[in-house]
Amino acid sequence: AASGGPTSIRQVKLDKECELRIEVAETPFRLRLLTGTAEIFGTEIPPEIWLSFPPRLKFAVFTWYGATIEMDGTTETDYTADETPMVSYVNVHAVLEGRRNRAKASPGDSDASQGPRVIVVGPTDSGKSTLSRMLLSWAAKQGWKPTFVDLDIGQGSITIPGCVAATPIEMPIDPVEGIPLEMPLVYFHGHPTPSANVDFYKVLVKELAQTLEKQFSGNAESRAAGMVINTMGWIDGVGYDLLLHAIDAFSASVVLVLGQEKLCSMLKDVLKNKPNVDVVKLQKSGGVVSRNPKVRQRARGGRIREYFYGLANDLSPHSNIANFSDLSIYRIGGGPQAPRSALPIGAEPTADPTRLVPVNINRDLLHLVLAVSYAKEPEQIISSNVAGFIYITDIDIQRRKITYLAPCHGELPGKYLIVGSLTWVET
Ligand code: ATP
Repeated sequence: AASGGPTSIRQVKLDKECELRIEVAETPFRLRLLTGTAEIFGTEIPPEIWLSFPPRLKFAVFTWYGATIEMDGTTETDYTADETPMVSYVNVHAVLEGRRNRAKASPGDSDASQGPRVIVVGPTDSGKSTLSRMLLSWAAKQGWKPTFVDLDIGQGSITIPGCVAATPIEMPIDPVEGIPLEMPLVYFHGHPTPSANVDFYKVLVKELAQTLEKQFSGNAESRAAGMVINTMGWIDGVGYDLLLHAIDAFSASVVLVLGQEKLCSMLKDVLKNKPNVDVVKLQKSGGVVSRNPKVRQRARGGRIREYFYGLANDLSPHSNIANFSDLSIYRIGGGPQAPRSALPIGAEPTADPTRLVPVNINRDLLHLVLAVSYAKEPEQIISSNVAGFIYITDIDIQRRKITYLAPCHGELPGKYLIVGSLTWVET
């Protein structure tokens, strides 16, 4: 294992079914494929062309038949591994492929025309996102358009943190750019963990599942391709309940359990009465890199920055000004409860976790990230998806004006905004 190696150009020869694991340092790094074939998390890399990778990215170049890779730049680490779980992962892909073909061959039948709905579960840092990505990219390579559902509101890969989201995957996922941000279906929870409001998280998961169900009913192609659902690494207590809730909400047909025997046997046990659900245990890759809370926090900030500025700082967000009266901001759940005197006689004040609480505009909103709801009426906010996000940069109480950053210029697509606890400090 070479660590912090020289900056000169060097070559690595990979034997079949081996991978080159790389952690990019703080400086630019690039590589290219010289001979053979290779892929990064399921997406084939083109021959000869230099690919540049951003600082701190952790990834692997895997080859099925052998390859030579040329590297340029320093790395935190780079080493070759000949033991990977890739054969077992691609075997899962082959089984899913069979189910997609069967679904495609039975267009009229509502049950049989449904392709596999795969949910990937496991503890933090077990490689769930990476396996989801590989399964999606392999399917897309074969011409399917599977739907990617990301329920990981802490480290999701479709949009900014604090959301559950879904998007069709039409091409193998770019190893650097990730998932294209065009028109995903996004629901905003507003917190980087569901524990801030578990009931609201469940409501959103349910909404997302129902919306996809509707879309599938009119789209045989998406239906046959099925879904890959990535989940959070929270698997104990409430986290476990949320997994069961997600399996049920999306009517998952395949549960892939990464790297935990106990979780696998618990799930097998509770799902044993459901003959249509397969629970499959898979080995965690030795290449998965653990991330501590600080790294995760930093990654969250990075995702928000990317939303406004682009991955390569290639977007220019607009700073806009609105009047207080132009916007209605709401918080979901919590907040001060209605006094007993304001309630109808006999009613008890309850802490409804999905209650809509109007938020006064003041300087407490500084540095928060808000979602712009598609709701047309306040009552629709809880169940509506969101168009995008804004970041509050200034509040002028005297002139009653809000300055915010938005990815584009002009009027917001809606006047109802949702706020949670998601903050960002622009650096
Ligand atoms: P979370 O706890 O956030 O849900 P996870 O289980 O989804 O995490 P991943 O995000 O898939 O885990 O993997 C963690 C990190 O390890 C990522 O940075 C990923 O790119 C890296 N990684 C995964 N597999 C490999 C590999 N084979 N070689 C090198 N790096 C890898």
